[in-house]
Amino acid sequence: MWAEIRVHNASSGPVRRFLVLDEVDPKRVDLIYAAGREWLSFASGIDVPLEQRPVRSLKPAFVLDLAAGESRTLYLRVDTPFRLTNLTIMLQAPQVFLDGLMVESWLYLFFFGAVFIIGLYNVLVFLILREPIHLYYMLFGGFFLLAVIGYGGYDLYWMADSGVHYLLQVPIHLSTVFLVLFMRRLLNFPSRFPRLDWVARGILLLMLVLAVLVLVDVSNLYLTLFSGVPVTLTLMLMGHYAWYQRVPMAGSFAIGQTFLMLGMLALIGVNLGVLPNTPVTRFAYIIGALLEMTCLALILAYRIRLLENRQSDVQALLLREQSLQAEEQARLIAERTRELQQANAELEKLSYLDSLTGVNNRRYFDMKLREGWAPERTGHDLTLVMCDLDHFKRYNDSFGHQSGDDCIRLVSNVLCSELRKVSDVCARYGGEEFALILPDTDLAGGLVLAERLREKVLGLGMMHVGAVGRVSVSFGVASCVVGDGVDPAVLVARADRALYQSKANGRNRVTCYGQQADGNNGLVMAEFG
Ligand code: GH3
Ligand code: MG
Ligand code: MG
Repeated sequence: MWAEIRVHNASSGPVRRFLVLDEVDPKRVDLIYAAGREWLSFASGIDVPLEQRPVRSLKPAFVLDLAAGESRTLYLRVDTPFRLTNLTIMLQAPQVFLDGLMVESWLYLFFFGAVFIIGLYNVLVFLILREPIHLYYMLFGGFFLLAVIGYGGYDLYWMADSGVHYLLQVPIHLSTVFLVLFMRRLLNFPSRFPRLDWVARGILLLMLVLAVLVLVDVSNLYLTLFSGVPVTLTLMLMGHYAWYQRVPMAGSFAIGQTFLMLGMLALIGVNLGVLPNTPVTRFAYIIGALLEMTCLALILAYRIRLLENRQSDVQALLLREQSLQAEEQARLIAERTRELQQANAELEKLSYLDSLTGVNNRRYFDMKLREGWAPERTGHDLTLVMCDLDHFKRYNDSFGHQSGDDCIRLVSNVLCSELRKVSDVCARYGGEEFALILPDTDLAGGLVLAERLREKVLGLGMMHVGAVGRVSVSFGVASCVVGDGVDPAVLVARADRALYQSKANGRNRVTCYGQQADGNNGLVMAEFG
């Protein structure tokens, strides 16, 4: 492109002006003008290293000194690969030029610093959490940063090479690629809005295709400018739609995307001449991007909090589960313990029962007799009655052992059924012998009971070959006052002796150990009506 520019100094003194191109991108810019007979030529642009330029600024600039009233025709040759470029040429007073440079430098510096910090933070978060969304954010910010470095021409400080510089047009597509990946993951597009997700995938594909086209020939960049607005607008609308559908965090995303859209519109407005060309309006696109990045960073921070909350919820759930399990275990243990206790009680009962007759056994008798001498029983009467079936050997011999067993059972029923008090104990003492423990019963009471039992057994009328012709029982009764010097063994011996006496006196009778006619204690035949 060639431009012919006529300048005239209408003032009365000499003036100095800077001729500035408001683009860093031209490959080469030549300023040519006549000075007297000579043609002077100055070169700038990307292919000219900064130190060889007439003005050491990223944007091609030239110094013009005009004497009072002087007119000059300038020829500007611009070699740029970009089509449809709106080329802005400015003629600025030195102070205006310097002020503009400073404002722009501050804006870029602020942008680089902010993106660097947000990016670094997310790199660290990604290293800790290993969540792809932080990687997407990092790459989105990183590629955008590269694109802005190219847009501002900051790569030229490092190397004046148009090939490398134009390569920096590619990251803008890649940043959009990662923005879309970020959005899809953040708002759960694949599962929540499968159809809209196809639009997102379409944008991904478009960006990759454009990246390749720009890589092949940077003049294809105008396609990016054309697609930039619809793509940004679509992403913004998708964010707003998700927000409307109450997807968590969609609101912040939509707001961020709106900032980016506004920045982009400002850039277009400047290029169309609708908005004034100031560093701020030219920079609005980058400010919008920065605001968007901040929104997205806030989203990510909020997301970490959500994850944290979810984690503590899970922990609370686990704890509750554990305590429920513990309760259930405690309940089971209590149940088992109860069952065991019941079984034990059952066993204990069984271990105190005689298997033939079902009445208490000798073990039980021994235990109860010991209990009769417990300290709190001191001063209480206790009577012991020993019973023995008469001539039972002969019964077995005559009727067989099974009939003998039946007989023992029947007699035991009679002996036990006559007991009145709960504390009375009836136990099978040995083969055909039974023993009764009668707490709080004196000798007279024991004798009455023994006599009644004797009559009852006889009353059964069971045939026998003994003296009376019926099954009969002999009794021996002994009493004591607990704590009066008689121990259980002595009491049993006395009752036994009384029983022996009953046998000796002819059986089927009751004998006791008590006061004799001479006043001494000894064996006494009980007399009844
Ligand atoms: P007495 O007591 O009148 O002096 O004569 P006895 O024949 O009853 O005396 P002894 O004590 O010598 O015999 C007891 C007999 O009781 C021995 C045994 O045949 C019988 N006997 C003991 N236990 C059982 C039992 O469980 N079942 C049966 N069928 N008989 C038993
Ligand atoms: Mg016997
Ligand atoms: Mg006997």
